[in-house]
Amino acid sequence: MILSEKTRAAAAEAERRLAGLFSAIDETARAGTERVLDVFRKERVSESMFMPTTGYGYGDVGRDAIDRIVAGVFGAEAGFMRPALISGTHALTVGLFGLLRPGDVLLSVTGAPYDTLRPVIGMDGADGSGSLADFGVRYAEVPFAPGGGFDWDGIAAALRGEGERVRVVYFQRSKGYLDRPTLRVSEIAEAIRFVRAHAKNAPFFVVDNCYGEFTEETEPCAVGADLIIGSLIKNPGGGMADVGGYLCGTRRAAELAGNRLCCPGVGLDAGASLGQNRNMLRGLFYAPHTVAQALKTAHLAAYLFAEAGFSVNPGPFERRSDIIQTVSLGSPELLCRFCEGIQSASPVDAHVRPVPSPMPGYADEVIMAAGAFVGGASIELSADAPLRPPYTVFLQGGLTYESGRLGVMRAYESVMDAVGAQKNGK
Ligand SMILES: *Cc1c(COP(=O)(O)O)cnc(C)c1O
Repeated sequence: MILSEKTRAAAAEAERRLAGLFSAIDETARAGTERVLDVFRKERVSESMFMPTTGYGYGDVGRDAIDRIVAGVFGAEAGFMRPALISGTHALTVGLFGLLRPGDVLLSVTGAPYDTLRPVIGMDGADGSGSLADFGVRYAEVPFAPGGGFDWDGIAAALRGEGERVRVVYFQRSKGYLDRPTLRVSEIAEAIRFVRAHAKNAPFFVVDNCYGEFTEETEPCAVGADLIIGSLIKNPGGGMADVGGYLCGTRRAAELAGNRLCCPGVGLDAGASLGQNRNMLRGLFYAPHTVAQALKTAHLAAYLFAEAGFSVNPGPFERRSDIIQTVSLGSPELLCRFCEGIQSASPVDAHVRPVPSPMPGYADEVIMAAGAFVGGASIELSADAPLRPPYTVFLQGGLTYESGRLGVMRAYESVMDAVGAQKNGK
């Protein structure tokens, strides 16, 4: 790969400085792998579970084992992980519609939810689409406090005001594509304790866990979440799952979500796995390791670009609770150069040059770099950004650190070359 000696030296220096953090990340991956293998052994994972089923999928022992395995790995009572869940948004939809009833209130305590949930919730009002709003579920949100943490007074006021109508208290763990901090599991724990002390009833605690899985040694189920929800083309699929999502938590919440996935009466007892069991189990097996690769890739990017004077979030030495790294490049040109660099080190479509283009639902043009084995998989190295100041790119993923670092080095070199050319031109 074409890289200057200067770039290679900068990366080597970054890796020396990050060595302590990298070994802490490896330690988390070791603990995660141990947890996964313990549950696999307990559930007696064997080749017979990989057999594809069709039709109703009756007697699919792999499906039933996988449901218990995902719950076990995430410290939940029950759950399911299915190829029938086509995306994270779909999985979240199944969870919310499973738990909420007409007249209930869905209360987000982490501000605005991920963009794709707006139409699911019906945030612009009932419109006949079949959103939660159409079914008479009201939505309320408490933004983060100006300083960044939970707005405790705001949460207490919302719980007082909405009273027993609050059926679901909703958290988004990852910052997603917003400029806000990512929550650590310990912070979610604190908020759950607070809500329990202030709520008039016992609401369900639901966590959008996308991008957070395996970044810490526990998941939000361990601290009282009733349902955690995520996508298999992000962290928990380990880069190996072709499709799918998971929901797990308390037995009651998982059962209600299962009724919604399929139907009351059948719940989780049917569903053909269509040959996906092997990929899903292999993905869960790889996930702690793959997430570590993505985390190291993010730290390297943070270090190199912070050293070069760009604003990055989180900082190079901050421990993370998700795999997203932002770099603010300050100009459309540098943003495009960054994405070109990432693309050029992808295993698929490396010859393609990403260009900004209009996207449905976005006010600004968007540029995306991705060359993944699985369509849209963002556990694979990818970068995307809307073309607006301060020209912040969201970088995530990396199936192997070896490839992730090459992508980051290419992005760095491409940006630094452009910076140099700008200086010389002036
Ligand atoms: C990716 C993501 C989603 C939605 O997942 P899709 O698979 O893209 O539908 C929801 N919430 C967060 C925080 C995410 O990162």
